[in-house]
Amino acid sequence: MKDAKYKFEIPEEVKNISRILTDAGFESFLVGGCVRDLVIGRAPKDWDIATNAKPEEIIKIFPKTFYENEYGTVGVVNEDTSDKTLKVVEITPYRIESGYSDFRRPDKVEWGKTIEDDLARRDFTMNALAYNILTEDLLDPFGGLEDIEKKMIRTVGRPDERFGEDALRMFRALRLASELNFAIEHDTQIAITTHAELLEHISRERIRDEFTKIIMSETPALALDLASRLGLLNFISPEFEKGIGMEQNQAHAYTVWEHLLRTLNHAAKKDFPLHVRLAAFAHDVAKPHTRKRLKNQWTFYNHEVVGARLSRTILTDLHFPKEIVEKAVKLVRWHMFFSDTEKITLSAVRRIVRNVGTDLIWDLVDLRVCDRIGTGRPKETPFRLRKYKSMIEEVLRDPISVKQLGINGADIMRLTKAGPGPHIGFILEILLSEVLENPKLNSPEHMEGRVGELHALKSEELAGLGKVARAKNQSDEEKEIEKIREEYKVQ
Ligand code: ATP
Ligand code: MG
Repeated sequence: MKDAKYKFEIPEEVKNISRILTDAGFESFLVGGCVRDLVIGRAPKDWDIATNAKPEEIIKIFPKTFYENEYGTVGVVNEDTSDKTLKVVEITPYRIESGYSDFRRPDKVEWGKTIEDDLARRDFTMNALAYNILTEDLLDPFGGLEDIEKKMIRTVGRPDERFGEDALRMFRALRLASELNFAIEHDTQIAITTHAELLEHISRERIRDEFTKIIMSETPALALDLASRLGLLNFISPEFEKGIGMEQNQAHAYTVWEHLLRTLNHAAKKDFPLHVRLAAFAHDVAKPHTRKRLKNQWTFYNHEVVGARLSRTILTDLHFPKEIVEKAVKLVRWHMFFSDTEKITLSAVRRIVRNVGTDLIWDLVDLRVCDRIGTGRPKETPFRLRKYKSMIEEVLRDPISVKQLGINGADIMRLTKAGPGPHIGFILEILLSEVLENPKLNSPEHMEGRVGELHALKSEELAGLGKVARAKNQSDEEKEIEKIREEYKVQ
């Protein structure tokens, strides 16, 4: 299978670019991931063209170009397309790279003379194919087609050399394995285990981008399991390594690490968004920190609280956007919510919605579904899940925050003729805790009466009740609330 003719469907926009380059006397090939995807029969994510034209020559023949990056890549803009893979088609002059003293970038980049020069610098054989759109010739100097056939990821040239040049390629190998459901060739795997430490030289952002693609792939567990076996997991976070081989109690068939992988894989199967998948992967990350032996069983008390903190550290260290971090952290924090529809009350559901927020409540339910599947337990019966969802629907109409109370701080000051101070906050928290129990109490008339009663209490007692209410509003952990009750001697 070498240099044969291949027929692929190529969008008109891309064909045109090739024609224009050829008519101007230059060579033009589709290269990299798009050729690999065409051979596999997957839709390419982007279309990359390699040419022997130099950046200034490319810019001259394409009026609608808009940039040139440090590698001489020129973006050609197609304004009249709705296909987002065609909005910008990148044209890059052939390159030869050499000397990688920092393990991530070439010291020297020269223009290559031939397409073969350019293919030789590419990471894996399957990514080192070139397709001449006009003649339908496929160039395959490194046996990429055969590797695609075998579903095998193999470096172009010696793997230890290639990983030494740019350590990120090790994560790219895992990511592509997971996206394509390919295996990594044996010597390439060995080279990863011996070069893993070089990832210290790679920025957290570049690792995050590959990690994100792994998480968003169809079978993220495949790459993450490989990461754990080849010594790369550490560079996502050493915290995950602590759960490897760690047994849990009888409710769990799997170790902590296996459980996280299975939970994540289910989130991927359901096509859930990034923050839900990150939460699925991290929800039990703190179990190794909280494991204690109690009556011949392992317990993990508070692992969701410690886990939320750890997740924030891990995701922030990887430079995930703050919004994604906060959503994932919240899901981890509240993933232990109680959902037995036989026993749960509407007021308990209201507190859960309040804690995780109306924007995340459905994601929390989704996370629970993944968590169950990841444990190896059968799916929740559709009836119970439906019942729980209908309880959420019901409480979503109720007030669940101080802002939604029928009375506000200014009203309280007016009614009590007292100035601002902590007592206002205490009264509001107490009123909210009562409304969370019973939403009907949210009428201004009822509230005004209650404000009078509460204002008449001694300030010590009001503070005690206020703190109990705040704890209760924020948490469904009775033990914590009990402690505060005792401290302030209130019921
Ligand atoms: P995707 O489907 O995610 O776009 P891809 O393989 O096309 O995957 P890109 O990051 O778009 O990945 O890179 C395009 C091509 O550039 C690759 O197919 C490969 O030939 C080459 N390439 C990218 N990154 C590297 C690298 N770190 N080292 C060597 N070659 C690389
Ligand atoms: Mg690509």
